[in-house]
Amino acid sequence: MPDTRPADSPSLFPSHVRVVDVLLPVAVGSAYSYRVPEGIEVAVGDIVVVPLGTRHMLGCVWPRTEDPRESPKPVDPARLKPIQRKYDVAPLRPAMIAFIRWIADYTVTPPGMVLRLALRHDESAGIARERTGVRLTERRPERRTSARERVIAALLDGFVRSKSDAAREAGVSPSVVDGLVDDGVLETVVLPPEPAAEAPDPDHSRPELLPAQAEAATRLVAAVKARAFQPFLIDGVTGSGKTETYFEAVAEAIRQGRQTLILMPEIALTQAFLDRFARRFGVRPAEWHSAVSTKRRGRVFKGVASGEVRVVAGARSALFLPFADLGLILVDEEHDNAYKQEDGVHYHARDMAVVRARLEAATVALVSATPSIETEVNARRGRYTRLALPERFAGTKVPRLEPIDLRREGPPRGQWIAPRLAQEMERTIEAGGQALLFLNRRGYAPLTLCRACGHRIKCPSCSSWLVEHRFRRRLECHQCGYATPVPTECPNCHEPNSLIPCGPGVERLHEEAAKLMPEARLQVLSSDLAGGVERLRAELKAIEDGEVDIIIGTQLVAKGHNFPGLALVGVIDADVGLGHGDPRAAERTFQLLHQVAGRAGRHEMEGRAFLQTYMPEHPVMQALVAGDRDAFYDREIGVREEAHLPPFARFAALIVSGTDPHAAQAHARALAACSPFTGEVRVLGPAEAPLALVRGRHRYRLLARSARLFDLSAYVRAWMAGAPRATGNLRVEIDIDPQSF
Ligand code: ADP
Ligand code: ZN
Repeated sequence: MPDTRPADSPSLFPSHVRVVDVLLPVAVGSAYSYRVPEGIEVAVGDIVVVPLGTRHMLGCVWPRTEDPRESPKPVDPARLKPIQRKYDVAPLRPAMIAFIRWIADYTVTPPGMVLRLALRHDESAGIARERTGVRLTERRPERRTSARERVIAALLDGFVRSKSDAAREAGVSPSVVDGLVDDGVLETVVLPPEPAAEAPDPDHSRPELLPAQAEAATRLVAAVKARAFQPFLIDGVTGSGKTETYFEAVAEAIRQGRQTLILMPEIALTQAFLDRFARRFGVRPAEWHSAVSTKRRGRVFKGVASGEVRVVAGARSALFLPFADLGLILVDEEHDNAYKQEDGVHYHARDMAVVRARLEAATVALVSATPSIETEVNARRGRYTRLALPERFAGTKVPRLEPIDLRREGPPRGQWIAPRLAQEMERTIEAGGQALLFLNRRGYAPLTLCRACGHRIKCPSCSSWLVEHRFRRRLECHQCGYATPVPTECPNCHEPNSLIPCGPGVERLHEEAAKLMPEARLQVLSSDLAGGVERLRAELKAIEDGEVDIIIGTQLVAKGHNFPGLALVGVIDADVGLGHGDPRAAERTFQLLHQVAGRAGRHEMEGRAFLQTYMPEHPVMQALVAGDRDAFYDREIGVREEAHLPPFARFAALIVSGTDPHAAQAHARALAACSPFTGEVRVLGPAEAPLALVRGRHRYRLLARSARLFDLSAYVRAWMAGAPRATGNLRVEIDIDPQSF
């Protein structure tokens, strides 16, 4: 347990000078010492504003440790800079400090970098500025203009409005309002602070639960009541009411006065979820993700720290919020890749959610219809309690996947929709249903090829092909965002009009579907839809309202959306993710295709789903077609165990990158050469990393493998302590439990 006594340390410094250690959100291993000026009292966990160089930044008064990585170098106290002031937010609690230290240790990152994740909100935005409003006085202006008249008319009702609202309602610029204040026609009044969130009501509108749901809910509620760490897996088929079930646990946490964190992989798109929460609890939860305004984030941050905010729904970064009393964590769609952060601090939010729950003595539930292999193994070992919801609420069956063997019944060259799928689509739409064509490829064509010389157009700074986006009339790199107009001649042999698009993307599929069914209303859904998140939300709504017949979508559509009218799913290329030598390919493909198929027939209609594949005999296809989930898990777990792959072994990846490939490779070799020898760890490589060139940086990878229970983080720490430093623009990234190995 961290030290919670006042942070003064009289042993190191003269007693009349008070000194504390402050951890700053920077990539330095240790805390910095600051002097505490007269009149300020600080304790461990307090957030303070301190000078660093010419800047001021937020830091956290940090407990003293024996650990040399965290302790500052002793400095003459007379030369120490003073803390500027205490920041007006609740202090980080011991459990939060322990969490930051745990992550820093595990991921082999400086604790300041982890603190940065916890303090990531704009300082100035968080300072509670007084909100002022305006209202009419008795006085009327001497100088009258139509703009001024409009402001007065808007305020005639006598109510107070903020300046900007008054200006907006009157359709004038804020300076007009200011002018009226100066002339005494309007007076300003201080408004009460806006609440960070309204209190959810646990009994606002409770559904009647089915027996299986009720049983699972009872277990969760008991765990929340017990106020002890307990991990669960809510394992239910799509549409079985997992959300409805865990809402009961949320209700109990609210009754207990403890806070809830709901993590979601794609929060910016889950408006439907927020509305649903509001139907159950009367108000929406506080949101936390990159699309939330800085100002709003500042308010949520403080509300979470003070305990005023009861429920947060957020992206993985919400895991680092300083909850006052966290009682429940839910990780929705726990198998989703979006939980893995792969820059800065490399962490997996699902795993860290379990760690945080342990430190907070909280209940944690991982939620999925297709659990990750790691989670499934944890449930089989009994480390997580499995709560199974085997049936859909609406009573419909999860659709079986029917294979379409592209070797025998594929479409003609240059087309991608097999005749059988086209027929089924037509029938579905005639019967008033919706169809979804799933293809996990953005743009028009994944590859542009010269038919004269065979040249393939690559990104100048990445090892990836440029993807044609016909709608935007350009070639784009999906790795770095580089874009260039589609050339009219081959950049290699300069033959004019020789470039041809190869393979399909969703835009091309749209073209084909429109030709097949000219009457149908089509909509492409992919993350690069013009108009961003707002547009996407609008399109999702249109689909829900039945204004679309055929949806053509990337993996975006696989994530949690509820399309009531969707009766048919066609997977255009089921083999896309297989056969790259990626050891997680089978797991990913199974999860994705199972989720996509699960979008169909969630309500009254029975759904159907078709898999276009060249490999109907592949075990993943066989398990999908047979609807035999356990067969897939049994087999895949066996493969992992046999091959000593996670979760039966542990990996750490070291990625060395630099603009000069020789320097990067040489440094990777030097690192390999100085890896500490122990019979328990094998170091493999260096080899080219899976993405060998990204944004002009060449990447080499070393992999360290150990047994499951070995402390691989400690090994990597020791390794790095004795390793040569990366110089120039060389960079070494450490990824414990990498996604690919
Ligand atoms: P999942 O999260 O497992 O995919 P949901 O919780 O989204 O399932 O439930 C699927 C649908 O069934 C939703 O529309 C939900 O409102 C409805 N539903 C599930 N359980 C109940 C219940 N007990 N009472 C009323 N509606 C329910
Ligand atoms: Zn690129």
